Amino acid sequence: MDSCLVTGAAGFVGSNLVRELLDRGYHVRGFDNFETGRRENVAELAPVDAFEFQEGDLRNTDDVTAAVADVDAIFHQAAVPSVPRSVEDPVTSTEANCLGTSKLLDAARKSDVESVVVASSSSVYGSSTGVPKQESMPVDPESPYALSKFWTERLAMQFDDLYGMDAVALRYFNVFGPRQDPHSQYAAVVPKFTRLMLSGQRPTIYGDGEQTRDFTYIDNVVDANIRAATVAAHGEVCNIGCGDRISINDLVETLNDVLDSDFEPVYDSPRPGDVKHSQADISKARDLLGYEPSVDFRAGLDELVTHIRTSEMEG
Ligand code: NAD
Repeated sequence: MDSCLVTGAAGFVGSNLVRELLDRGYHVRGFDNFETGRRENVAELAPVDAFEFQEGDLRNTDDVTAAVADVDAIFHQAAVPSVPRSVEDPVTSTEANCLGTSKLLDAARKSDVESVVVASSSSVYGSSTGVPKQESMPVDPESPYALSKFWTERLAMQFDDLYGMDAVALRYFNVFGPRQDPHSQYAAVVPKFTRLMLSGQRPTIYGDGEQTRDFTYIDNVVDANIRAATVAAHGEVCNIGCGDRISINDLVETLNDVLDSDFEPVYDSPRPGDVKHSQADISKARDLLGYEPSVDFRAGLDELVTHIRTSEMEG
């Protein structure tokens, strides 16, 4: 792989992935329509020679055809990524995540792109019983978003089978880190609580706080993507997490420790549809990709807080 396309390059995962790919010497084309991504995430990279950016929409055939031209590999991160938003507006999520993915993959096959890594999600498991989650367990997508992610990975696997395009799907578990939008109404819990507590406010926990998540620092996800594009693991779906179970109460306690604060959370009624426990079995990613999470939960929170404080001082 010399040159690659990162869809969703203005978003959280995509913008971090672009930076690491550039650091490793690849030529990178970013693609995004700024639906949820931020212009500053790509504007900072404008002076880098090995980076080019194309503003475009996955749902537009001409846009994706131009985006895939002359690239060896695609990292498909673009999506409308929120469960609650997909419940409120299933059409937009489905159009971007399903129709958009099929247009992108079809353009890629016609342009002889060698490999694609698609972003899937732990949400495909739904509340099916048993943790840690193994890829062989049944899926139970419980929202239009989760269904669109399952559909994305299945379509990628079909392109692998039918057209010989090397495809790997990565099921991310609760990713957190710099450049994640804390202000969106659908913000994930880590950026939301970090920003609240940094600004002196108590976080609200829905339920008793004993629900658990496998919070995964972004550097681990970026590394997994690059491995997936460069090792022979095509036709496979792999969990990408840390393999840990951290409760929401633990999250607040660890943030208090990192921030040297003492916030008591506010407790509210549980949100319908919230999964009680989520944890990845990462043995398949270890075996197939040589993946090993290098930044654990606590170290990741330290990095995130340092990044936020530094960017606030600079900005
Ligand atoms: P994000 O919202 O920060 O990034 C998604 C990007 O896709 C945005 O920049 C958005 O503008 C772009 N986009 C949306 N619709 C588009 C369209 N029609 N055309 C072109 N661009 C479009 O989200 P993220 O957290 O970076 O998520 C990246 C990927 O990882 C998504 O596929 C998401 O489903 C998956 N994922 C994320 C997490 C997580 O914890 N962040 C967990 C599981 C899976």
